[in-house]
Amino acid sequence: MQNEAESSTPSGFIRQMIARDIASGKHGGRVHTRFPPEPNGYLHIGHAKSICLNFSLAEEYGGLCNLRFDDTNPLREDQDFVDSIKENIRWLGFRWHGEVRYSSSYFEQLYEFARQLIRKDRAYVCALSPDQAREYRGALTAPGVDSPWRERDPEESLDLFARMRQGEFADGELSLRAKIDMAAPNMNLRDPILYRIRHAAHYQTGADWCMYPTYDYTHCISDALENITHSLCTLEFEDHRPLYDWILQQIDRDSLRAASELGDAAAPWVPPEQTEFAKLRISYTMLGKRFLRALVEEGGVAGWDDPRMPTLAGMRRRGYTPASIRNFCEAVGVARSESLVDIAMLEHAVREDLDRNAPRAMCVLRPLKVVLRNFDEGRRDMLPIPCHPKRGELGRRKVPLGREICIEREDFAVAPPPGFKRLVAGGEVRLRGAYVIRCEEVFRDAAGEITELHCSVDFDTLGKRPEGRKVKGVIHWVSLAAAEKVTLRLYDRLFVEENPAPKNIGEVMAGLNPDSLEQIEGCLLEPAALTAEAGDHFQFERVGYFHRDREAESGTPVFNRTISLRDTWGRGSG
Ligand code: ATP
Ligand code: MG
Repeated sequence: MQNEAESSTPSGFIRQMIARDIASGKHGGRVHTRFPPEPNGYLHIGHAKSICLNFSLAEEYGGLCNLRFDDTNPLREDQDFVDSIKENIRWLGFRWHGEVRYSSSYFEQLYEFARQLIRKDRAYVCALSPDQAREYRGALTAPGVDSPWRERDPEESLDLFARMRQGEFADGELSLRAKIDMAAPNMNLRDPILYRIRHAAHYQTGADWCMYPTYDYTHCISDALENITHSLCTLEFEDHRPLYDWILQQIDRDSLRAASELGDAAAPWVPPEQTEFAKLRISYTMLGKRFLRALVEEGGVAGWDDPRMPTLAGMRRRGYTPASIRNFCEAVGVARSESLVDIAMLEHAVREDLDRNAPRAMCVLRPLKVVLRNFDEGRRDMLPIPCHPKRGELGRRKVPLGREICIEREDFAVAPPPGFKRLVAGGEVRLRGAYVIRCEEVFRDAAGEITELHCSVDFDTLGKRPEGRKVKGVIHWVSLAAAEKVTLRLYDRLFVEENPAPKNIGEVMAGLNPDSLEQIEGCLLEPAALTAEAGDHFQFERVGYFHRDREAESGTPVFNRTISLRDTWGRGSG
């Protein structure tokens, strides 16, 4: 047993760090995080990890969490992405602090700070072409070479910078670069570009600008302007941290504080501190917007919200619940080194939530007609069957039973394999929530295919064991007269490889599992599952968890299989 003190110790290195910072009074004891997506794609489960981390930490420590779009690239970004990202975050159950922030709304301030850097001779306007600049940059093993424009007089740079803004130059003709160190072992410090000319409209600022600040220059200043205390990001930004720190050190502290949201209230002013954590990677899954976009564009899937996609939009449509995704992210935890998380762990989290919360219903995938011989023609029973086997509070639904029903084809066998507990000729089985029936006669068509069974009902078995014999099998069924026709979509892993690491879109397409989608038409569902009060998550007994898809054009309801019933997580490990 853990004692009180131990169990309340924050777990994880980020939590420990924040707890230390609060205790030492750094940042005046404040905790302010942010989620900073670039609106150039839809969110995936990797982003969910970052969202859960940032929002949960703020919640846990009584702090705040911003949503800020880091939107510095006019060519790739647009409002649709902004809208879907906001929608996804709300769906996950998080609320950001105040208004949505946009880095683009700091463009004027960023421009002023850039002028300050030029005046201090910490930045210069460079006329190397992009190709030349790449050459001058050197390599990991060789130092770079100073640009011939590096010692340009600050007054001249100021003038050129202003004229860049006015649109006097073409794309790539000039750039603004930080003056740091062309021999720095960290390539990010070799006079990185702060501004580049791009005659392109921006979805937020329209035609106001024809040059744009780089991501690195913008990101750290945006965090500072929002008085972020803990800037959490993934490991690939570790090498950028020295640049972020450099930029924030060069800008005059008082002007930075005065421009920040808290202004003087931010005193003592401490710049945001970046901490890196490992990206989430999941087996049989590929994350990374670039390839996901290509997958959509090449038609490898039906769209960003295809239920096979690891996007939040796809998972939502598939039937993953916000709680299951949050629980999964919590269970994965944060670490400093990357590892591949077993997809079974995610599936386990989904099952766990749905097992507890999804009402049960019966749906027959491949129907076989059964006539109940001793059940009167016009008779219809309405059987009250519990919506959940363990949660009486979820009530009962009324399931109609008539003379003609159908069962799953595979629940009947003429030559049963050993251990078969379902229906056989002359044998008995229980209809879930109803009576025990006995198979009296099997009908076939000319080709020998079984078309129909005739069974008798033991009316004495409703809610009771049959007398003097054991009936082991229980199968699902639906009444033919009342059943609703639906289409089911069953999904399998999108990728064949356990650890897909495609280098190009060709490899992405070649790695797809050809059997990732199976569509079954003409399935028969009990009618109560289509009523509004039934909701849209179900366990179809013995078949899996399903989620009702948005209205199909054909008018036939479609259900996506969220996940099968069998849990493979933790097998063998106890
Ligand atoms: P991608 O690699 O898919 O292109 P990105 O990092 O370019 O993603 P951004 O919009 O820049 O996407 O990311 C927003 C935030 O989400 C960043 O802080 C980033 O570190 C984080 N993030 C992205 N992918 C993952 C992941 N797989 N696991 C955890 N956090 C992630
Ligand atoms: Mg990115």
